[in-house]
Amino acid sequence: MNGIRYSVVVPLYNEEAVIDEMVRRLSRVLEDLGEPYEVVMVNDGSRDATAGMARAICAANPSFKLVNFARNFGHQTAITAGMDLSCGDAVVVIDADLQDPPEVIRDMIEKWKEGYEVVYGKRAARKGETWFKRVTARSFYRFLNRMTDVRIPVDVGDFRLIDARVRDALLSVPEHNRYVRGLISWLGFRQTAVEFVREARFAGETKYPLKKMVKLAVDGITSFSYKPLKVGIGMGAFLSIASFLYLVAVLVMRLFRLTDMEPGYASLMAVMLFFFGVILVMLGIIGEYIARIFEEVKGRPLYVISDKVGEFHGRDRSASTPS
Ligand code: UDP
Ligand code: MG
Repeated sequence: MNGIRYSVVVPLYNEEAVIDEMVRRLSRVLEDLGEPYEVVMVNDGSRDATAGMARAICAANPSFKLVNFARNFGHQTAITAGMDLSCGDAVVVIDADLQDPPEVIRDMIEKWKEGYEVVYGKRAARKGETWFKRVTARSFYRFLNRMTDVRIPVDVGDFRLIDARVRDALLSVPEHNRYVRGLISWLGFRQTAVEFVREARFAGETKYPLKKMVKLAVDGITSFSYKPLKVGIGMGAFLSIASFLYLVAVLVMRLFRLTDMEPGYASLMAVMLFFFGVILVMLGIIGEYIARIFEEVKGRPLYVISDKVGEFHGRDRSASTPS
């Protein structure tokens, strides 16, 4: 073994405003632990000064390492690469923007030493986030829980500690469009939570615009649930029965001349548009699943690394691995 006890994975996407402060606070916590550690920074294709600043940090402290992606592959992929490449007995994933306070890592380690293999940070409160983010996040976690059989804890992000065994198990999960927190729940192991208050972003603005949030939500649902597909079956069955009953009613009325039915274009139109809407939505849902199957079948690597700074002991799953 290489003797590294703790690995900390930090995804970075255009984080020039926070990176120095993050390193300062994180190193203070890690130095205090008094055991060998490494920090794996994953630069997810930043377009600002992040890469250069991270390089300087590595030069100043060899415990800090840097992986540069060839382009922006997304947060979930960045933390996957960081975990792949880390080699500590325990691995902590933390956001760069100090919304997840590094000091909480101490509590996580304590739980880990008690024998838990996954210690996730549960957001007791969220500060400095828009009501829109809070409401959508809150309802999404609850909705996802209803949709899936895997028990994914609510109000929990990717801030967590995992044991090396969990990290190794995760390495054997090759799927694209990852929802990492769900995958870790799916793996099992002994899991527990530590509560913390999610702070406001230290500086800069969120790198999760609505589009990325929606993608993460759809990935979470489609990776862990087939229920959206089943909606079509339920709706189809219900509508068939209803229309058959309607047909019988119309026949009876015609037969006994109970009605002089007018040719109702308006009602016809309404019914048709409604059903076309339903059909198109269902086609879209099926399309989402097919697109994901297609992505798996292509078998492309999860990420591409352009270069690395520092000495890594973990193995990555990238196409090119120069170092
Ligand atoms: N991030 C990333 N790639 C992306 C978007 C975000 O690596 O495409 C990183 C970002 O640098 C940060 C973490 O993921 O360390 C969480 O992003 P952010 O704080 O912007 O999300 P929020 O907390 O607003 O949900
Ligand atoms: Mg944040």
